[in-house]
Amino acid sequence: MATIKAIESRSIHQIQSGQVIVDLCSVVKELVENSLDAGASSIDVGFKDHGLETIEVQDNGKGIAPHDFDTVALKHYTSKLSNYEDLTSLDTFGFRGEALSSLCALSKFHIVTARAEDGAVGKRLDFEVSGKLRSATVTAAQKGTTVSVGELFYNLPVRRKELEKNIKREFGKVVAYLHAYACISVGVRFSVSNQMPKGKKVAVFSTKSNTTTKENIVNVFGTKTLVALIKLDLQLEMEPSVGPGTQSARNWTTQAANCSTTVLVQGHISKPVFGEGRQAPDRQMFFVNSRPCLLPQVSKAINEVYKSYNVSQSPFIFANLIVDTNSYDVNVSPDKRTIMLHNQTALLESLKTALTELFDQTDHTVPQSSLP
Ligand code: ADP
Ligand code: MG
Repeated sequence: MATIKAIESRSIHQIQSGQVIVDLCSVVKELVENSLDAGASSIDVGFKDHGLETIEVQDNGKGIAPHDFDTVALKHYTSKLSNYEDLTSLDTFGFRGEALSSLCALSKFHIVTARAEDGAVGKRLDFEVSGKLRSATVTAAQKGTTVSVGELFYNLPVRRKELEKNIKREFGKVVAYLHAYACISVGVRFSVSNQMPKGKKVAVFSTKSNTTTKENIVNVFGTKTLVALIKLDLQLEMEPSVGPGTQSARNWTTQAANCSTTVLVQGHISKPVFGEGRQAPDRQMFFVNSRPCLLPQVSKAINEVYKSYNVSQSPFIFANLIVDTNSYDVNVSPDKRTIMLHNQTALLESLKTALTELFDQTDHTVPQSSLP
């Protein structure tokens, strides 16, 4: 008898889903990104019991058309990307068609959706664990989409236990994620709340439909943060780098020559002297072309420069790197949070120099209104 056998498709689906949806953050990130991709100008994120009971993301985006109900939660079905070449000109957050199908496999999941032309009549969509549509029933709904994720990881006991054990920390991470989306999303109203069992709904934070990231930052972190900030507007010019060896050098040069050598770094950063002697909580947000992401090397470089002016604190950082779409790759990790930047070494050097110049020109006095 053969000892090597195919894994049944249901198990494969569950294993793969567990790699897309790894924790509370991945759920929230995928749903908020879907709402932004749907053109929402208002997004409400509601947690029950910090997300252990339900996570609900409600938007006023374009809604889902009835002809897409059958495929909306099927794996690798997406309205955003049809071939690999499209990846280089990506202007949406999503592109793999995996989030909703994974959530069907790992939670008690349903969607309520309505388009502008549907009036106040929407559809509630329920699915099999495979992502296959089970039913579409009429329900009252405003234009937009509400996605509900209940009892996350109910069928993965080990992961569920971990989630329950670390829920406070996980929730803190989720809120930090949401801060980043809310601050960068100009023109989008965000509201985040949590409700404990038998408790009242408590607002976590909210933003208005602001026209600048600065106003978003004030809504999220308060006016006190703002007086201590200076504007980041750096233009980094980089020589195309040449790799070692003749053959590879030629290939690399051709590739690099196609890449833009200008990177803009826009946003806000703490004055290097602000609140000297006090420890500010870490509030650092990084974006590539307005996509929230993790840039540990960039973060390290900025913190290093800052530390040479102010050893006692970490800065508030809101840094959006504007780079040519050909010069980075978002398809590195399943959560698309890790971004591979071409020419990173040159970029970091250039960034440190430009930041040092900026800090040297900065008025180093502590703003009066920020003193305790
Ligand atoms: P992806 O975002 O990679 O396409 P998802 O599984 O996250 O994959 O979503 C599948 C599809 O469902 C999307 O391509 C989109 O067409 C639709 N969709 C998901 N969420 C929303 C939403 N909030 N509003 C409108 N359409 C949505
Ligand atoms: Mg998506």
